[in-house]
Amino acid sequence: MGMTMSQKILAAHAGLDRVTPGQLIRARLDLVLGNDITAPVAVNEYRKAGFGPVFDKDKIALVLDHFTPNKDIKAAEQSKQIREFAREKGITHFYDVGEVGVEHALLPEKGLVAPGELIIGADSHTCTYGALGAFSTGVGSTDMAAGMAKGIAWFKVPEAIRFELTGMLKPWVSGKDVILHIIGKIGVDGALYRSMEFSGDGVAELSVDDRLCMANMAIEAGAKNGIFPVDDITRAYVDARVSRPYTVYAADPDANYEQIIPIDLSQIKPTVAFPHLPENTRTVDEAGDIAVDQVIIGSCTNGRLEDLRVAAEVLRGRKVSPDVRTIIIPATQLIYRQAMDEGLFTVFLDAGCAISTPTCGPCLGGHMGILARGERAVATTNRNFVGRMGHPESEVYLASPAVAAATAVLGRIASPEELDL
Ligand code: SF4
Repeated sequence: MGMTMSQKILAAHAGLDRVTPGQLIRARLDLVLGNDITAPVAVNEYRKAGFGPVFDKDKIALVLDHFTPNKDIKAAEQSKQIREFAREKGITHFYDVGEVGVEHALLPEKGLVAPGELIIGADSHTCTYGALGAFSTGVGSTDMAAGMAKGIAWFKVPEAIRFELTGMLKPWVSGKDVILHIIGKIGVDGALYRSMEFSGDGVAELSVDDRLCMANMAIEAGAKNGIFPVDDITRAYVDARVSRPYTVYAADPDANYEQIIPIDLSQIKPTVAFPHLPENTRTVDEAGDIAVDQVIIGSCTNGRLEDLRVAAEVLRGRKVSPDVRTIIIPATQLIYRQAMDEGLFTVFLDAGCAISTPTCGPCLGGHMGILARGERAVATTNRNFVGRMGHPESEVYLASPAVAAATAVLGRIASPEELDL
């Protein structure tokens, strides 16, 4: 019996010829990630354990993205703690205000992710990097601490579900609609501790930004990781950013999958996840008349340049509804600059949007757009749990940038087609 893509990466990093689902392994890490929320806990554990130097100062990324620029004194103290740790240990990839971006947009952009690598992060959406053919997954802060010290972590080898993508996407349908469609189909525990492996001709239909968005939300189906095959699109993206050698792994033809789920991309419509779970999906044409108070376009799911371009296409020459506070958050400084240079900021400002510095901000109810009791937001983020963006009696609807932008204009959940686009 052959191995899946994820199993091959795990076996290689464990120094084994093969691994099987359920097997416990210790594997060598290529990158360990933490942010301003999780790294302070890891640093406390690191010090408690009496660890000395880090295993490799070039293989740790510390990203102050969640509550920065510091939203309050606690956030300031946490950032300070990580800043000091990064200086003390000589961490190469430490990102502070002015250079920081939302971690899962920033790391691929900086060339810190390559195919075949094994990455852990003290953040559940670390699974994003599977878009580039890496095995990446979220861990707790204690595992992060041990990972920073020793460069190894333990894993239980996951089973896999293969999603066989075919067909072509319709206009205004993106990777976000595809992953919402999949989670709506299998549920928030539909891939519990499984590897979600995407394959098929339809993969070529998806840009790197689409794939990053889809792998990012694998955890919303309970998955251990999400992973895409490495093709010319991946290579073009990675080779423009990564100079170190990397290994491309492909699933064996006789790899064992617990399930194979066909997904016809041509049948997917613009989709929204209603409160309070990402599995509560409906197509926009069946959403009904849902008025909203706020639209957020940003996050590690959909704050990339392609997302901002799509939003600008919808907003160009239009005004957002006076009843909808529309906040655009480019995910990194580079995306911010590119969007500005392309004139997208003019489009957003003319439309009546606010533009934020890169931050997670409202995605996790931190700052920069908190909801009051009874308010509703459409957001391009990845979670719509109770109270995720503010008051426990507020609501978050998850959607693509195209749907979010059309919603901002019409003041209710809408697709761009309703604007004759
Ligand atoms: Fe987490 Fe949201 Fe930040 Fe992504 S943007 S890392 S989901 S808080």
